[in-house]
Amino acid sequence: MFRSLSFLAASALAVAGLTAAAVHQPAAAPAQGFNIFSVDQDVALGAQVAHQTDSMYQAKGQLMARGSHARAYQLLDGVVNRVLDNGNLKYRTKFPWDVKLIKDDATQNAFATPGGHIYVFTGLVKFLDNESQLAGVLGHEIAHADRRHSTQLLQRQYGVGMLASVVLGKNQGMLAQIANGLAGVTSLKFSRTFEQEADKYSTVYLNGTRYYACDGAAGFFIKAEKQGSGNPPEFLSTHPNPGSRIQAIQNNARSLGCTGRSVSNSNFEELKRLL
Ligand SMILES: [Zn+2]
Repeated sequence: MFRSLSFLAASALAVAGLTAAAVHQPAAAPAQGFNIFSVDQDVALGAQVAHQTDSMYQAKGQLMARGSHARAYQLLDGVVNRVLDNGNLKYRTKFPWDVKLIKDDATQNAFATPGGHIYVFTGLVKFLDNESQLAGVLGHEIAHADRRHSTQLLQRQYGVGMLASVVLGKNQGMLAQIANGLAGVTSLKFSRTFEQEADKYSTVYLNGTRYYACDGAAGFFIKAEKQGSGNPPEFLSTHPNPGSRIQAIQNNARSLGCTGRSVSNSNFEELKRLL
């Protein structure tokens, strides 16, 4: 109880506008070195949200188990690991960075929890044309976690005290709300600034792979645009279009000099067939 109260007190201080640095000072830090806005908080919150998300999709029979889909995961892991190993992540070793497939061909979406648990809907893979596009969307999601956008979004949306109770395992209702929000079931939107930054990092990450065409994420948005406004991919409901994002991604990729990489599509086509 004391731990919980002191944590909430620290949360209140943070809300009152003290800088994150001040909260990190030993005097203001709650017990057990668990600091508000700390990377450990992302990891702890991410573990809770991932557990909730797993249960949610397991209950619907949609969480694809690694044991029974070994080859599909081998192919997907290949893409994820290339992007993760691009050399520009801050928390490559700190976050667990696991990826799970959700069997839902009608949903063109992917998302990442704080602390780096990635989820990919089968509908997204089937929607895309090539591996660089998938890498681009994954890079965008990885950036939201690694740049800690998701934690900041959740803090703004729900308040630090509320999040603290979730991290402590004391607010199942809010946990479910967060999992649904990140998954796009309910609307939890990133800001334009976070969207632009995630797009930018997607190109930087893909450039660092020395493998993928680093405007891959633009391919997704071009396809989404062609699909028209009548039936937009779910990804756009949680990742609003910050204007000229296609052009911004392509400009950034051109300035990095990494647009024309051609990657064999046989692994990607095989992954599609397995889903
Ligand atoms: Zn986004």
